[in-house]
Amino acid sequence: MNPPSDPTEADLSDIRRRLDEADQAILGALRTRIDAARLIGDIKRRHGAEIRDSSRELEVHARWASRAESLSLNAHAAGRVLREILEWSRREQEALWRDSGGREAVVAYQGAPGAHGDLAARRLMSIRGESARTLGTRSFDGALAALLRGEADYALVPVENSIVGAVDAVDGLLLEDGIHIVDEEPWQVRHSLAVVPGASLEALERVFSHPVALRQCRRTVIESLGLEAEEIWDTAGAADAVLAARNPRHAAICSPEAAAERGLVVLKEDVSDHPDNTTRFLLLAREPQPVAPGIAVRTTLRLVANHQPGSLARCLGAFAAEGVNLTRLASRVLPNRPGQYAFIIDLEGRIDDESVARAITELRPHARQVSVLGNYPDRSRSLAESVPRVTAAATSSPEPGCPAPSRPASSLPLASGGRRSELPTEIAGVPIGGNRFVLIAGPCAVESVEQIEQSAVMVRRAGASLLRGGAFKPRTSTYAFQGLGMEGVDMLVAAGRRHGLPVVTEVLQARDVEAIAERADVLQVGARNMQNFELLRRLGRCDRPVLLKRGMSATIDEWLHAAEYILAGGNQQVVLCERGIRTFETSTRATLDLAAVPVLRARTHLPIIVDPSHAAGRRELVVPLALAAVAAGADGLIVECHPRPEEARCDREQALDEAELQRLAAGITPLLAAQGRSIS
Ligand code: PEP
Ligand code: MN
Repeated sequence: MNPPSDPTEADLSDIRRRLDEADQAILGALRTRIDAARLIGDIKRRHGAEIRDSSRELEVHARWASRAESLSLNAHAAGRVLREILEWSRREQEALWRDSGGREAVVAYQGAPGAHGDLAARRLMSIRGESARTLGTRSFDGALAALLRGEADYALVPVENSIVGAVDAVDGLLLEDGIHIVDEEPWQVRHSLAVVPGASLEALERVFSHPVALRQCRRTVIESLGLEAEEIWDTAGAADAVLAARNPRHAAICSPEAAAERGLVVLKEDVSDHPDNTTRFLLLAREPQPVAPGIAVRTTLRLVANHQPGSLARCLGAFAAEGVNLTRLASRVLPNRPGQYAFIIDLEGRIDDESVARAITELRPHARQVSVLGNYPDRSRSLAESVPRVTAAATSSPEPGCPAPSRPASSLPLASGGRRSELPTEIAGVPIGGNRFVLIAGPCAVESVEQIEQSAVMVRRAGASLLRGGAFKPRTSTYAFQGLGMEGVDMLVAAGRRHGLPVVTEVLQARDVEAIAERADVLQVGARNMQNFELLRRLGRCDRPVLLKRGMSATIDEWLHAAEYILAGGNQQVVLCERGIRTFETSTRATLDLAAVPVLRARTHLPIIVDPSHAAGRRELVVPLALAAVAAGADGLIVECHPRPEEARCDREQALDEAELQRLAAGITPLLAAQGRSIS
């Protein structure tokens, strides 16, 4: 090195030119490197190989360090540059997994331009390698509405802040239908104190900002400067207000970017009371997105545990047993279900990691609803882990071109995945399964207030636990009585309430699910509808138990696949009901397939009940078939009865009168006792 001497102007410009040339060369090399990384990324994507190859990264780091040293460069500083480059290369590869079609995406956020939501959205989209523009809305609801209406491709919403905690309103939004979390952004919030040009600290009297920002800067700004605080809907909105008033006594707490974009002057930087002010934003979309393999992933679940002591603990225990790390547990009261909660659970891992999948399978019997709200890159872990750890090198990672071994995919992961619990689960608060047996009885159809009232009385007296009654009837003949419709549902529910009996009623079509679920306790899918997939899908998003009858000519496998539709939608409360199948035999209405009971016990954790009435078609056969079903191990029975069977408008021949219903109850009680079971 030359001893320092006063450089002339000419020397300086020569040195600067060399710097420019070096920068140009670095950029050229980066261009080459990113192009090569994309080519490799494309190969990895086609072969499903992991993006992150820790042993290769370690090699690259080691080679880079020794080359840096041989060039007398600071190896530590050079290593930081390499880490940044590798992170960038990975992000480029990750972006190949998302097909944006080269279109500019629209990201809705709450706030004015320059708000933290806006800045976080811009940063995240650039990390994702997607070109995007942002769309500010007045409220979180507004951002979500823009997403759901298709005016935006994404909505970015804050879920939690390191200083003020959870953003409650957003947890509510996450539970809405049709929303998927596809990414996250841990955003470092920087608050600055901005004023109109010419204003000074001494002259300030009032400070405007979002209430959360005012809380975060209470000591530094409001107390130590003695300012009066005024709440505004948004931090960048506060900058707008200060600019509009042009009052030198006013200041805004906003991002430095919001101030700069409006020509405001920052009087004080970093005015937050706490040095670490991080807001975690979630990127929401209408469809889930694939996540590249080999990067840190977080999963968010929505869980409604059974309403029984210990159910939530058992659900969480399933994750503990599988060594899955939970990072967040939030609860929301369920609308129209006072005292019952939906839980939002964040965990470290992919939804298809074996341990995560096993934990979810284990918890299903203890939950009414389980659904995946998102499976997305874990941006805080990927930052913390951007330096490959030496231990990671020991674990072998697949060569590009050699896909990771995958588990054989089951077509019934939910219906056939779980272990049958020794403990009862419940439907509509009534224990079922284990040592608890459920008797459901009532007329085929609700016919009048008087008829359903008398039915409820006889059902209660027989010791049954739920009242059945069809209001929407699937009839073979179009001329037959089709049921009383929603009015009939209301009559059934009213009679049930008067006698303390939860009610079961059939739903025929997807568009009726919501209205019937608001009233009835259990929704029945009839045999004729077992493969009405739209109906099944809609029931999957419903929070009522579903009694799924076997189709008249459905195999057990097809029946379980129908149940899978409901389970996959999130609703775990499915009860299977064997009601007889069509065979060559004509002496009964259908052939009751009692073998289905033990077959299903071995194949599914779901409760199985039997309907002897529709199988028999004749009342004298109902009691013997019911007894056989108990002996075969069914978890319950659903039988038809009527206060005056001869007057029944529907399925008259198979309806039991009160004496016969009593005889049925009296017959099954000792059988159940002998099996160590009892009626719920
Ligand atoms: C019913 O339960 O009233 C009914 C119509 O049954 P299934 O769908 O089994 O014929
Ligand atoms: Mn019937």
